[in-house]
Amino acid sequence: MIEKDLLDILACPVCRGGIRYDAPEEKLTCVSCGRRYPIRDDIPVMLEEEAELPGRST
Ligand SMILES: [Zn+2]
Repeated sequence: MIEKDLLDILACPVCRGGIRYDAPEEKLTCVSCGRRYPIRDDIPVMLEEEAELPGRST
């Protein structure tokens, strides 16, 4: 379970955008660039190399 207070202090390491919790997928989505960060053992993994890029073919 991710606390809202934690979400408030998290920021995307790539663009510094805000983070939104995607509960059904257990991911954290950057509201600015759309990267999706995994959560492992309730710990947000805010690493660029771990992020899923938003759907695009390039
Ligand atoms: Zn971002």
